[in-house]
Amino acid sequence: METLPCQGCKGLCCGPVPVSENELKRLRKKVKAMPAKTRNELKNQQRFPGTCIFYDLKKDRCGVHASRPGVCKAFGLHRNLVCFKNPQAALHKDWKMEEPASGILSVDYTWKDFSS
Ligand code: SF4
Ligand code: SF4
Repeated sequence: METLPCQGCKGLCCGPVPVSENELKRLRKKVKAMPAKTRNELKNQQRFPGTCIFYDLKKDRCGVHASRPGVCKAFGLHRNLVCFKNPQAALHKDWKMEEPASGILSVDYTWKDFSS
């Protein structure tokens, strides 16, 4: 299987992404389960404008990896979600959301929606 050379990208492709209600639920659960120190540390990072609110710049990886939305899991591997660093990895047919999007993470949903 083709892999993606993600290390060192510093969240280059991690911007606003569509999320469904169920994906939001999973993200809320994940954020709630984080130790307070980890959650605050992630929340208070200074990100580039447009970088996903969950991107962990210090660790250079997704801060919610196991609970990330479907589009993040699909990115780079589908013909309509090509990664310019390895276009050959986009072998699968066009990706579609399984459930309707309820909004855009990082735009409609920000840290204040995950803080309680
Ligand atoms: S999918 Fe591509 S652009 Fe995104 S982090 Fe990985 S290598 Fe970088
Ligand atoms: S949820 Fe994770 S993988 Fe998806 S855009 Fe945000 S940081 Fe990137």
